[in-house]
Amino acid sequence: MIEIEQALRSIEASAKPLGAIMVPLVDTVGRMATTDIRSTIDSPPYDKSMMDGFALNDHDAEVAINESGTLRLPVVERILAGDIPANPLEPGMAAQIMTGAPIPQGSNTVVMIERTQEFRTGQRSFVEIAAKDVRPNQNILKRGAVFRSGDLIIPAGHFIRAHDIGVLAEVGVDHCHVPRQPNLAVIATGNELVPHETEPRFGQIRNSNGPMLAALAQNAGCAVENLGIAIDDRKELESRIQWGLASDILVLSGGVSAGSADLIPDILKSLDVTKIFHKVAIKPGKPLWFGCYQRKEHRCLVFGLPGNPASSLVGFQVFVKLAILRLQGRRDIYPVFERAVLDREFDLRGDRTTFWPAWFGIENQQAVCTPIDWRGSADVLAITQANALARFQPSGTPYAKGSQVDVLRLNE
Ligand code: AMP
Ligand code: MG
Repeated sequence: MIEIEQALRSIEASAKPLGAIMVPLVDTVGRMATTDIRSTIDSPPYDKSMMDGFALNDHDAEVAINESGTLRLPVVERILAGDIPANPLEPGMAAQIMTGAPIPQGSNTVVMIERTQEFRTGQRSFVEIAAKDVRPNQNILKRGAVFRSGDLIIPAGHFIRAHDIGVLAEVGVDHCHVPRQPNLAVIATGNELVPHETEPRFGQIRNSNGPMLAALAQNAGCAVENLGIAIDDRKELESRIQWGLASDILVLSGGVSAGSADLIPDILKSLDVTKIFHKVAIKPGKPLWFGCYQRKEHRCLVFGLPGNPASSLVGFQVFVKLAILRLQGRRDIYPVFERAVLDREFDLRGDRTTFWPAWFGIENQQAVCTPIDWRGSADVLAITQANALARFQPSGTPYAKGSQVDVLRLNE
C-alpha cells in the first residue's frame, strides 16, 4: 500500500501530454495552447475614436475661441465605423465621428456628442463646443496602444478559457495547436450488474458507476467510449479489456479487491499491463490499481477502481482526473484543496486519509464545511447531496467544531 502523494507522483510520471493537433478556434476552449500565439496586427489597427462625437484639432480651441469661450466649426464630414476618412481635416474644421471610426488626419481630439451642439444654416452644418471641453488626445485610442504586431498574446502552456477567444479572434487566429483530446474507455465489471435501463432481478443491481464515470470523464474533456458491463469471467474480461486498451485511458470499475471474483489484477498482468501500484492509503477506495500498457508509440493508462460507487468517485476525482489533465498538457497543481472551517464536531477514527462527502459554502464571509450523513462507500445519495469531498487526516481524537479542513470541490 502506498501513500496518496506517492500515487499521484507515479501517475504524473506516466501521463505524458498527447501530441498536438490543430483545432478550430472555438473548439480550443478548455484546452492547452501548445505554441506561443503572437499578434500579426496592431490593436487597434488605426487611431480610433472611443466616443460618438466630433473630431477636431485642439489647436483650434486656442486660436478660434470667440468671446463666449465657444468654438464654432463647420462640419465637413461624417465618419462612421468602417469608413475611411475622405480628406485630412483642415484647421478650423470639424468632422462628426462615431465610436470605432478612424480618426481623420489633422485631428487630435474627439469631443463627445453630449458636449456639443450642432445646427444648420442652409446647406451647411456647424458644431458648437465649449473651448474648455477640448483637450488633446481625448477619446482617441492610438494605433497599437493595446498591443503591437509581434506581441505575445497567449504563451505556450496557457489553458484557453472562453474569454480568451475574443483576443484570438481579433488577431485573426482561426486554428490553434492543442493536445489531442484523450480517449477514455469505461468498463464496469461484476456478475451482479445490469444496464441502468433495465430491471434488476433479486441479487442484481444497476450499473451506476459506468454512466457516472463516463459523465465525469466527459466533463473532464475526454472522448468517452462506454464499453458497458463485463461479467466476472476471465474470457469476457480479457476481450473487453483488450478492446479498452486501445484508448489513452482505460477505467475499470470493480474486481480489484480481495474477493474470489476479483480477477482484474491478474487479467491485466496477463495482458501485459505493467502494474505501477495496487492499493493506496485512502478511504474509500483503498484497492485502487494503476498500471500502464505500452505498444510501440501507443500508451494506455489503466485504472482499476473499486466498485463501490463512492470509491469509484473518489478514485476518479483524486487520481484519474490528474492523468486526464496531464495528457491534456496541463501542468497545474492537482488536486487543489481549499481551506474551510468545520461547522460541527466530527468524529472520525482510522488510519487512512478519508474523503468524506461534504457541503462547502460561504457563511458570514467564511468558507464552511458541513460533512454529510453518509452510510459509507455504497451510499450514492450522500454524493448527490455533496458539492465537495472533505479530506480528513487520520486522527485519534474527534475534529472540533471550528477546526480547519481541506476540501476538494466536486463540481469543477
Ligand atoms: P467490487 O469492487 O467488484 O468488489 O464491488 C464492490 C461493491 O460495489 C459491490 O457491492 C458491488 O455490487 C458494487 N459495485 C460494483 N460495480 C458497481 C457498479 N458498476 N455500479 C454500482 N455498484 C457497483
Ligand atoms: Mg465485483
